[in-house]
Amino acid sequence: MKAKILLIYTGGTIGMIKDLRTGELKSLDFNYVFDHIPELERLHVDLSSISFEKAIDSSDMTYAHWKQLVDIINDNYETYDGFVVLHGSDTMAYTASALSFMLQGLTKPIILTGSQLPIGTIRTDGKENLITAVEIAAAKNADGSAIVQEVAIYFEYSLYRGNRCTKISANQFEAFSSPNYPPLAVAGVTIEYKLDQNLIKKRHVLQVYKNLETRIGLLKIYPGIPFKNYEFLFNVKQFKGIVLETFGAGNAPNNQDMIDLITNYIDAGGIILNVTQCSSGSVRQGQYQTSSFFEKIGVLSGKDMTTEAALAKLMFVLGNYSTREERINKLNLNLVGELTV
Ligand code: ASP
Repeated sequence: MKAKILLIYTGGTIGMIKDLRTGELKSLDFNYVFDHIPELERLHVDLSSISFEKAIDSSDMTYAHWKQLVDIINDNYETYDGFVVLHGSDTMAYTASALSFMLQGLTKPIILTGSQLPIGTIRTDGKENLITAVEIAAAKNADGSAIVQEVAIYFEYSLYRGNRCTKISANQFEAFSSPNYPPLAVAGVTIEYKLDQNLIKKRHVLQVYKNLETRIGLLKIYPGIPFKNYEFLFNVKQFKGIVLETFGAGNAPNNQDMIDLITNYIDAGGIILNVTQCSSGSVRQGQYQTSSFFEKIGVLSGKDMTTEAALAKLMFVLGNYSTREERINKLNLNLVGELTV
């Protein structure tokens, strides 16, 4: 029996065309993409599609769009075997991270893909990305279960865990990397899946979480940062949680203004998650003197999470758990494969 796949078109470069007057790339509707990939008809899948009312550049994605995606997937979850989300690459890692927390207990694949070149361009990467993403979404084990049972990003011959990805290139076809977690699959002559099927727990039940705390801040520190100028951020009335991007293994300057701001913020109920600015590796608070303060005062280690995953996790945890103890407990755990414990 053919697998039933739902293609969800949100926009992105894949469906854009150059405005000849201004030279800017503008989004077009899904028929444009479909017309350029007649091969989709020849795949051994039963393909249906649904589109955002207006295709958007992924820079325009908001929490509302994430919720819209969650609704589309949830409403169609029983009918389809897998989902492919066509999405701009710029914020794809944020959306993938958010979806991984908002849709838990998946037994079906949700594959996000897009392209660096529009589909109407001769050298487009969009065709391969879309065709292989559909194949992956349709792939099943001998017992009929889906091979991939999570939110993933497929780009340039690699399938990555969605909440481990980050966009690393604005112009290379290899636009994504998953620095702290190996690819789930690599597409060559065949698609080599590297998932440990024993680790995929049997028969989950889908749990949908649409509450997100959106009052979350993000601060990347830099040498000599004038912390006092960031006082507005460390105000728990404005920001319930903050992701702090620190140096190396989670280090920050020994700066009294920072110590005061963070101490008062945490005392007032704020939550701070410490992630590294490095593109790979993990936060290890207390390894250096320059991070011992974080550990003592109750800044939480984001371990090896990407910034995208840390933001999405804070939004999810603060939106769904109310006591400080529960929140801290959840933030320290590996909930959906987003960190290495
Ligand atoms: N600006 C585009 C977007 O994110 C880039 C892309 O699709 O690759 O929508």
